[in-house]
Amino acid sequence: MEDSNVIENRILDALKKVKDPDLGRDIVSLGFVKELKYCDGIASFTIELTTPACPVKEQMKMEAQKVVLSIPGIKSANIKMTAQVRPSKAEQKEKMLPLVKNIVPVASGKGGVGKSTVSANLAIALSKLGAKVGLMDADVYGPSIPTIMGVNSQPRHVNNRMIPPESYGIKIMSMGFFIPKGDAVIWRGPMLHKAIEQFLSTVEWGELDYLIVDLPPGTGDVQLSLCQMIPLTGTAIVSTPQDVAMKIAEKAIIMFQKLRTPVLGFIENMSGFVCSGCGKREEIFGSGGARRYCEQNHIPFLGEIPLSTDICTTSDSGKPIVEAFPDSPAAASFINTAKNLAAQISIQNAGGVFDTKPEPIEISRISNNEIRIQWKDGHASIYTGQLLRRGCACAQCVDEQSGKPLLDPSSVSLDVHALSINPVGRYAYHISWSDGHTSGIYTFENLRKLCPCNECASKSTASAN
Ligand code: ADP
Repeated sequence: MEDSNVIENRILDALKKVKDPDLGRDIVSLGFVKELKYCDGIASFTIELTTPACPVKEQMKMEAQKVVLSIPGIKSANIKMTAQVRPSKAEQKEKMLPLVKNIVPVASGKGGVGKSTVSANLAIALSKLGAKVGLMDADVYGPSIPTIMGVNSQPRHVNNRMIPPESYGIKIMSMGFFIPKGDAVIWRGPMLHKAIEQFLSTVEWGELDYLIVDLPPGTGDVQLSLCQMIPLTGTAIVSTPQDVAMKIAEKAIIMFQKLRTPVLGFIENMSGFVCSGCGKREEIFGSGGARRYCEQNHIPFLGEIPLSTDICTTSDSGKPIVEAFPDSPAAASFINTAKNLAAQISIQNAGGVFDTKPEPIEISRISNNEIRIQWKDGHASIYTGQLLRRGCACAQCVDEQSGKPLLDPSSVSLDVHALSINPVGRYAYHISWSDGHTSGIYTFENLRKLCPCNECASKSTASAN
């Protein structure tokens, strides 16, 4: 009789033929196959995916079953499908929210496109698929999540921590809890920054696979604060199909790309109206625009949500459609979109798409006034404090409109040195200098351009010519 170890190796070999289509690798090398056992013609193992919302879960299970049963001598295969959501890794997130694996804002170019409705239904869909989910309503100008999610209670304060109320199994925090009903909010940038900081640092979110953040529309202070404060796994953009809405959504995409927050994909809301009387579909706002845009710009298309009175009425009544009518076609469109979003999050956490933009892996002070950056592509840059201080691109040092330098390089002394260096989101470092200058945010692109080595200096001369 053959040794069961030999057969287990044969099973593993066979399972190498099963690929995760999203991650593009086989399930054995991805480490998905666990607890493999063979006994009396029966193979038993677990396939641990990176999200319970995996859109190809059943397909992978069937493929695994097929390849294992094709091994001579194996009569049956017991396959258990589980999931362990992988976290997006970053130092700032580890410090602030170590138990929250992924922070995923939902953004839009303009208001009224259904961003809050989509955020709430996506959160419920992910939770129903088995994930631990939180929903943070950062839409300070129209915080509608408590209404949509039917939350009537306020957060509780315990030992200087805020305990978020829960609805449909989802922890919820909203700007709306702190604004008197009927009041109009006039919050300036620093106040918004503080509020976002509190939502991240003093709310007891507990362990979460996904924290969905409903952002205000547009490209303002809340978006900037969030991207600066904590590295986000990536953002989903919602738009209606009209050309004008798409053009404004594009601005949001460009802003997130500038802030190095990956755009996980695009959701088209209010896409086509199906008449409940005759069943005919009308493309009220046009169709296919978002899909075309995504194809042209290599952005994943996550799904389209129909225009439906049920979506509107269920949200108004505090029980979103995925909770109220989970078997309806409209709920199915949210569930599919949530699965596609979860797949993109897994792809992002597995290393994402190939990115040629400069990315530091370590920044350190190697002497009192020298800083070294080790880049992901293997390059290392060594800067003197004077060189970096002169290269500051903040509004005090460079005219924002004309790009003309405002800082006189001869005013920067040779012994200027960094007092502190802190990461800013996924895209920059903030450096405070010994000459009292504290407003310098150095983007990774700028730092790479400032690298004084011969190789980089010749590249930047070539591109300037
Ligand atoms: P935003 O957050 O972008 O301002 P909301 O989610 O508040 O937008 O939605 C605005 C209005 O549109 C709400 O009344 C909501 O119920 C409705 N709505 C959103 N999506 C749909 C949809 N797919 N079909 C019908 N009504 C919708």
